[in-house]
Amino acid sequence: MIKMEKHDLVIVGAGPTGLFATFCAGLRDIESLTLESLDTPGGQIPKFYPIKMVYDMAGIPGIEGKDLAEALYKQAQLFHAKIVTNSKVTDVKQNQDGTFTLEVNGQPAYTSKSVLLTTGIGSLTPKKMKVDGEDQYAEKGVYYSITSMDVFKGKRVAVVGGGDAGFDSANQVSGVAQKIYVLEYSEVIRAAERDVEELKSTGKAQILTNSAVQKVIGDGSKVTQLLVINRKTNETTTLDVDVVVVAIGHNAEPHAFKSLNLETFMERYVKVTDDFQTSVKGVFAAGDVCQTKNAIKLGLLAVGAAEAYAAVDNVKKYLNPNASMFGQHSTNLNLGAQSNTPKPQTQTPQQADTPIIQQDQHREVYATPQTAQKPSYTAGDTPGASKKKVK
Ligand SMILES: Cc1cc2nc3c(=O)[nH]c(=O)nc-3n(C[C@H](O)[C@H](O)[C@H](O)COP(=O)(O)OP(=O)(O)OC[C@H]3O[C@@H](n4cnc5c(N)ncnc54)[C@H](O)[C@@H]3O)c2cc1C
Repeated sequence: MIKMEKHDLVIVGAGPTGLFATFCAGLRDIESLTLESLDTPGGQIPKFYPIKMVYDMAGIPGIEGKDLAEALYKQAQLFHAKIVTNSKVTDVKQNQDGTFTLEVNGQPAYTSKSVLLTTGIGSLTPKKMKVDGEDQYAEKGVYYSITSMDVFKGKRVAVVGGGDAGFDSANQVSGVAQKIYVLEYSEVIRAAERDVEELKSTGKAQILTNSAVQKVIGDGSKVTQLLVINRKTNETTTLDVDVVVVAIGHNAEPHAFKSLNLETFMERYVKVTDDFQTSVKGVFAAGDVCQTKNAIKLGLLAVGAAEAYAAVDNVKKYLNPNASMFGQHSTNLNLGAQSNTPKPQTQTPQQADTPIIQQDQHREVYATPQTAQKPSYTAGDTPGASKKKVK
């Protein structure tokens, strides 16, 4: 029988809401574990806008997406929280004693007294073109998001997808690319007119409608060409390209914790009370995944953060009915955080001071070897941190 780890709170999803909730759990001295299905935390930020500026975070006049994701991660770690990536929660079951068993990647893995769902729009995976050569050249010329400008410098780029995401990607790389093709499957371009005009004004772009990619061609180590068919004339063309950006959307697999049978709103949102309690006692939800009233709320970072704060206060009350609703202002703490973000460090599993959880289909974030292209994360101690606990 698998010996399961026990927790007071398991936070499902390490997007911006889940990361801030992780910090809030530390603030309220709640023992917690955060599980993320992707290989990096940050949710929609690293997937959709890693190198775009975010201007509407209170008190931050402007911050690049990946820096914001990294700052959220660093803040979540102020209380040395456990965040485990590559851990998709596939089901949550309520036990007879009221606790919950969380199934990760199909296996029962953890039990917890309470659960906070911060699963946003669900598990995200980019849609694939499903053509020959696509998988062979993935990350060797075929990309699904733009995480660095370096790969586009002086290159001939094909952006597959003439929607908002496609034109957004094309405009992002237009400053450094030599030539850009935008390939749209249908007859009409539906992207925002302003973005289309912006790309056209670069003089580098060729927009091809009715175009379907048939094959990614390469020399074994990198992409060299793209075989495209015109769906109207059946004419095939071979475009000389170095980089292909696939921007045809994402599959978002929504929360499917079927055993909980949570009450939902418009099928997509988990319904919560004003206390962020779902229809199952002990299961809370915050951020893009939930809806407090029968009206659409704004899916925004600041909204998710406020909800995470309130949800965690309610988790505290649930775990300990005698606890106060509010802990205290964070200005009462001395966490020793630097006002500037220190360089992320890499820790090997041996160096990490938190025990490795389960064997290892679930990879600890801080045991992840870092690459130069991706934002790197660490659970390293904050220098000089002195933890003052808040009850
Ligand atoms: C292009 C774009 C631009 C945006 N710009 C802004 C902006 O300028 N300002 C702003 O305020 N907002 C912006 N937003 C919206 C903002 O990104 C979202 O409101 C925010 O990401 C919601 O955070 P979340 O943590 O609730 O959900 P998400 O960001 O969706 O994160 C949820 C996380 O949960 C994980 N997850 C899901 N299911 C499971 C599971 N079963 N097991 C484990 N993990 C799971 C997912 O992988 C993901 O990492 C933008 C969104 C997009 C798409």
